Amino acid sequence: MQDESTSAPHAVALKPLPATGAAIVHDIQRYQHYHLGRIMRNCPPVYTYKALAWTLRDHMMADWMNTYAARDRPGRRRGYYLSLEFLIGRALANHVLNLGLDEATREAMHRFGQTLEEVAELEPDAGLGNGGLGRLAACFMDSCATLDLPVMGYGLHYQYGMFHQHIENGYQVEDPDHWLRDGNPWEVERSEFTCRVPFGGHTEHFHDKEGRPRARWANTSDVLAIPYDMPISGYRNHVVNTLRLWKAASTDEFDLEEFNAGSYSEAVQAKNHAEHISMVLYPNDSSENGKELRLRQQYFLASASLQDALRQWRAAGNSDLSTFAEHNVFQMNDTHPTIAVAELMRLLLDQEIMPWDAAWAVTSKCMAYTNHTLLPEALEKWPVALFERLLPRPLEIIYEINAHFLREVAVKWPGDIERRRRMSIIEEEPVRQVRMAWLAIVGSFSVNGVAALHSRLLQEGLFRDFVELWPEKFNNKTNGVTPRRWVAHANPGMTALIGEQLGEGWVADLAQVEKLKPLADTPAFQARWRAVKRANKERLAALVKAECGVEFSPDALFDVQVKRIHEYKRQLLNVLHVIHLYNRINRGRLDGWIDRCVLIGGKAAPGYAMAKRIIKLVNSVADVVNSDPDVDGRLKVAFLPNYRVTSMEIIAPATDLSEQISTAGKEASGTGNMKFMMNGAVTIGTYDGANIEILDAVGADNFFLFGLKAEEVEALRPRYQPQRYVEQDSDLRDVLDLLRSGHFNLCEPGIFDPVIDALLSPHDPWMVLADFRSYVDAQERVAQAWQAPAHWTRMSILNTASSGYFSTDRTMQEYNAEIWKLK
Ligand SMILES: *Cc1c(COP(=O)(O)O)cnc(C)c1O
Repeated sequence: MQDESTSAPHAVALKPLPATGAAIVHDIQRYQHYHLGRIMRNCPPVYTYKALAWTLRDHMMADWMNTYAARDRPGRRRGYYLSLEFLIGRALANHVLNLGLDEATREAMHRFGQTLEEVAELEPDAGLGNGGLGRLAACFMDSCATLDLPVMGYGLHYQYGMFHQHIENGYQVEDPDHWLRDGNPWEVERSEFTCRVPFGGHTEHFHDKEGRPRARWANTSDVLAIPYDMPISGYRNHVVNTLRLWKAASTDEFDLEEFNAGSYSEAVQAKNHAEHISMVLYPNDSSENGKELRLRQQYFLASASLQDALRQWRAAGNSDLSTFAEHNVFQMNDTHPTIAVAELMRLLLDQEIMPWDAAWAVTSKCMAYTNHTLLPEALEKWPVALFERLLPRPLEIIYEINAHFLREVAVKWPGDIERRRRMSIIEEEPVRQVRMAWLAIVGSFSVNGVAALHSRLLQEGLFRDFVELWPEKFNNKTNGVTPRRWVAHANPGMTALIGEQLGEGWVADLAQVEKLKPLADTPAFQARWRAVKRANKERLAALVKAECGVEFSPDALFDVQVKRIHEYKRQLLNVLHVIHLYNRINRGRLDGWIDRCVLIGGKAAPGYAMAKRIIKLVNSVADVVNSDPDVDGRLKVAFLPNYRVTSMEIIAPATDLSEQISTAGKEASGTGNMKFMMNGAVTIGTYDGANIEILDAVGADNFFLFGLKAEEVEALRPRYQPQRYVEQDSDLRDVLDLLRSGHFNLCEPGIFDPVIDALLSPHDPWMVLADFRSYVDAQERVAQAWQAPAHWTRMSILNTASSGYFSTDRTMQEYNAEIWKLK
């Protein structure tokens, strides 16, 4: 095994490079000339991007290596964030901001006849995640670095990230995201830390020389895990943490015998099979996939990361494994990496030859689990038969964990067979499956939800049996977002304006924005606030024009819903409101009218037919509304294709009204809601997820609340009759009549019948029609508020000023104080 070179006694301590504009120009030129061999006077911008990225990485390297070495001192406690997803987006401007090199790089780019913005545009998004869960992991990494928390991220080095979406005839079409085509200038390959991850084979049981019972996982097909490190810079604090992404590689390059025999494709088969593990991100958000390759990804991440953490712990000079849990904590982002519970047991039992009880004492004290959803379709369960074939040894360990656990249940509730059946990690009917959430709870010392309501619903519902057994494990950690990317980088206008009032400290201490509250009624400050928002709206209008061909007027209300397309998020409710507004125009009901630009964006999972149909509906409604001369600019509708981190950086700062309209009880937290709030959007939302905490923070006067509460939704569910709402509400009737008439799909008759049927079904799980009237009324209140600009601007300022709680700096401080206890 390799030594940890950075912590070895003979390791060199790197000195930082000088960071003047001239030094940066020199370094970029050296990369262009001597590394890339590009000597032309007007070097193509893509090489300027690469040279600048390498230069910035050089400037981070001393801090990166020093941080790495400091984390490695013996006895230091460390945290590891295990996640199948890190939705990072672009890195360049973020590092420039964090390193405080804005002026120097701008000056340097000027010397090359380019702007920093133009060059930054050339970086592809690192889209290694689906949506909120993956973006949360990225914001957490940013805050850990800024807070100097010794946390390392572990993920997968997907060759293909989240697919690109484009629209053809109103339908979503997916294109592969080959984000690594031109290489990734930020990452450092660390092949010296390569691990082997076993799959397949069978288990053998025997007694060793000392007479101890032992197990061996034999005849495995191993896959190599090669780490690629990405630097995560803290905000102006000389801390650079590490995100370590594993790439799969074959143990044998290829079978030379087969190759020489002329079977070329067979010769590379094993290699391809191994490399497929980290080939592509599964594009499912809030629903499980159940594919064998996905389980292989999960185990690959868990095994490589745990082997690596054990190696690091040893390299730091530790040896007494019974103290491992004192020095290490693993936070599992949803159940995706939960096989880590069984894998750490395996490593301790089979490789470190620890007795069961000692190994369990360690494992169950260093694992922590974050739940992200209550939706049953998202709860991961893996068929036992698949486990037997792919992971026979971890499966034996899961059985053993379950046997110990069920004995504990039987002691507490003697004779309660039904409870044991409910709580068993193995589901028996209809097919035997491993319940990953149960494994996560049993194996963890901490289980948290991601917003107050979500954590409460978990404890009262899905996890109730476990709460009765171990109440002390359960807690809440309300999500957040990083103000560095989502305000300081995305909204330079607002950043400058706040900076004039508060100085710079708020960027790393967002609670300070509270001090803007006294300015909310000041006309001069309001005027400047509005000017910033207007400039941001012009920026978004240009994007919408370029991407959708639709003209948005910055004078209109920008009404925005961007997020993954899912029925529970109720993009359909938004569309029904748009059709209602269109009906009002057609009938001349223009009393109290305000001009609106409605923007909807988001990706549908490729296999989710209803979500794809909703995209088609949005586009169809947009086509009709935007081309109807009677509408005359009063209403514009656009579907923004390929919603991703980079587009949100333009969208959030330009939004007036943030749509957070999920069925109450279904959106665990939401984080888009927080980005909008920080950027001065007012929310129209249900009493769901973190909306509730946003409402508490900003006050009911500055939030448009509507709809049933979670308890009301569940009380109504058994007697839900959508037809009743149609009968009682002529606006709703008109909307459904127009939709049914085929007005939006003249060339494709019947395509929206499934949508109408879903809305009118008494079994509609999302109960869209139950909230229609309340939503339309709330939108009416929005319109009234918008007509008084001073009033609206006050609400906007107060939203930003109340957003301090929603910084991931606060979230990470809570994880650290109550779960990780680092430093
Ligand atoms: C913040 C964010 C999300 C999460 O949005 P929600 O509205 O909370 O679902 C999803 N995708 C991207 C690109 C984001 O930036």
